[in-house]
Amino acid sequence: MTLPAGDTRVTYPSGALHATSRVLHVAPTTDGSLAVITETTSFHPVDAAWPDQPADAGVIRSAAGEFPVRDAVVAATDGDALHLGADIPVRTGTEGWVFLVAHLVDGGSAIAEGDEVEIEADAATRRALSTGHTGCHLASLALNRALADRWSKPAREDALGSPDFDGAAISSSRILPNGSLDRYRLNKSLRRSGFDTASLPADLDAVRQQVADQLDRWLASGAPVRVEADGDGLTDRRSWVCELPDGTARIPCGGTHLDSLAELAAVVPSFAVVDDAGTPVLEMANVARIRH
Ligand SMILES: [Zn+2]
Repeated sequence: MTLPAGDTRVTYPSGALHATSRVLHVAPTTDGSLAVITETTSFHPVDAAWPDQPADAGVIRSAAGEFPVRDAVVAATDGDALHLGADIPVRTGTEGWVFLVAHLVDGGSAIAEGDEVEIEADAATRRALSTGHTGCHLASLALNRALADRWSKPAREDALGSPDFDGAAISSSRILPNGSLDRYRLNKSLRRSGFDTASLPADLDAVRQQVADQLDRWLASGAPVRVEADGDGLTDRRSWVCELPDGTARIPCGGTHLDSLAELAAVVPSFAVVDDAGTPVLEMANVARIRH
């Protein structure tokens, strides 16, 4: 079977849940699933290179029936073989490679190359993840602002002009249903770049209060949110854009989002400093509540 020659076209960045498309390739995986690759999809896949937002839940329907999608992962091929998730041997965007959304369904599912299928991502799961992801970006900007006076040297600025602590220190970001968990390494290189890591653990409650107050002010603005894309290919550059009263915030992002901060009733942050093999790590956990 031939492998696709171009990136999967994706419609989830604009909020789509449904897609109708042709199956370009199916391949059994080593764990007994079937990887299904379509021309277009509305299904958000997890990206092993930066696994912040988990895959959508949902189904694929073919003429033969309805099949649950157990997972969806970013896959890649150079035309010879299909590599899934963490087995992709090259960086995203590498010349000569195409990047694909692989929907993983149970082995034996009656889906074949050439089939016209309907893809449906579950609306409730998507909304909970979009809620968590929008809250996560907003909280990162609020955190950068709350920590701005802890820098003694000029640092790269974030979208709103604060020193970009998030960009400098983040080690992992996990989007959860209606929440997020970001981890920041308070290591020597951060200290050398001018950030005062020493006093932070004692000031966590003041930082939390500042971040919470900033989030409340931003939510009250009801600012519109959108995802801007250079194209509809999986690896085309996309950004989260939020028109805050302080300016337009723009953060590179491959995930899904709400349409407006007015949809959020609250984003509640909490902080802890934990130890990771001798390196202090700041954890920011956010709980985002949707307005009903
Ligand atoms: Zn994002």
